[in-house]
Amino acid sequence: MITIFSDDHEQHSGLLEANGDVFVASPECPERANEISRTIRESGIGEMRAPRAFEDRRITAVHSPAYFRFLQQAWNDWQAEGRKGSNARPQAYAGGEMREVEPRSIAGRLGRYAFDDSAPFVAGSWRAIRRSADIALTAADIVRSEKQHVFALCRPPGHHASRERAGGYCYLNNGAIAAQFLRDAGAKKVAVLDIDYHHGNGTQSIFYQRNDVLTVSLHADPSDEYPYFSGYEDEPGEGRGQGFNINFPLPLGTKWKAYEKALQDALARTRGFAPDGLVVALGLDTFADDPTTRFGLATEDYLAMGKTISTMGLPVLTVLEGGYAVANIGRNALAFLKGIEAA
Ligand SMILES: [Zn+2]
Repeated sequence: MITIFSDDHEQHSGLLEANGDVFVASPECPERANEISRTIRESGIGEMRAPRAFEDRRITAVHSPAYFRFLQQAWNDWQAEGRKGSNARPQAYAGGEMREVEPRSIAGRLGRYAFDDSAPFVAGSWRAIRRSADIALTAADIVRSEKQHVFALCRPPGHHASRERAGGYCYLNNGAIAAQFLRDAGAKKVAVLDIDYHHGNGTQSIFYQRNDVLTVSLHADPSDEYPYFSGYEDEPGEGRGQGFNINFPLPLGTKWKAYEKALQDALARTRGFAPDGLVVALGLDTFADDPTTRFGLATEDYLAMGKTISTMGLPVLTVLEGGYAVANIGRNALAFLKGIEAA
């Protein structure tokens, strides 16, 4: 197992989110990635490499150029406009029956390019966001050239980010960028298996009309859980993509036995697609003690999960998504990676 990691994610810190009537520290904090990095280093599971820098076109292959420029400039524009606060966040959204124009004010553009309030910008955000995408791209390039399992230790995460909307702690969709890279590098069919607790709405929407990238997601039923407006069973894809998106909404409280059954179903569908590239969007927020979610998986279940996925017989590109039980996130990630290596 090769892990790709960079300290640059620490620049994206001091994030705040609303909790009841006050702003509190976001659970999407630097300690998450640092704890995983520390655990992997100590485990001796394999080498850790720094990411290399990829061209912007690898990112604008799945995100709009206007959105890319917005992300790059958001914090500077917030400051230039004399806005107050350490977290730049939207004031209004282009939802409802309003127009998707690009306002001059950064407070308006923050809403144009987001679907919720949980992807704010601080001074160092762009550096971390861009490096996180480079981590996924570096991992994809190694999977392609060395045919090995690679773990992209990405932060911030990516699976909620769509073609031109941030949200759910996500800005650039690292997993989608990696999947597209594999396609452009010669893979004929790529499957993205999303096992985060939350539906990977961004990844689904990016590939919704395509039949060369299968998107499969296991997650808490969106009728009960974030992101609420995406992730239902009756979202099969459209146009040429009809039949190439599969959602497995699961009830709150799901434990390993039921989860494993859904995972086996998901893998059977994925095998039927016969991919030559496999990206796993790994969220560790399915853990029983995660402070933000309501599934019941234990550390040993991640080992079983990795083993089950390894039966696909492909080099696995694992991209980190969510997971907020900081004290356990390292050992859970390691258990999963050991499972992948087991076969
Ligand atoms: Zn999640």
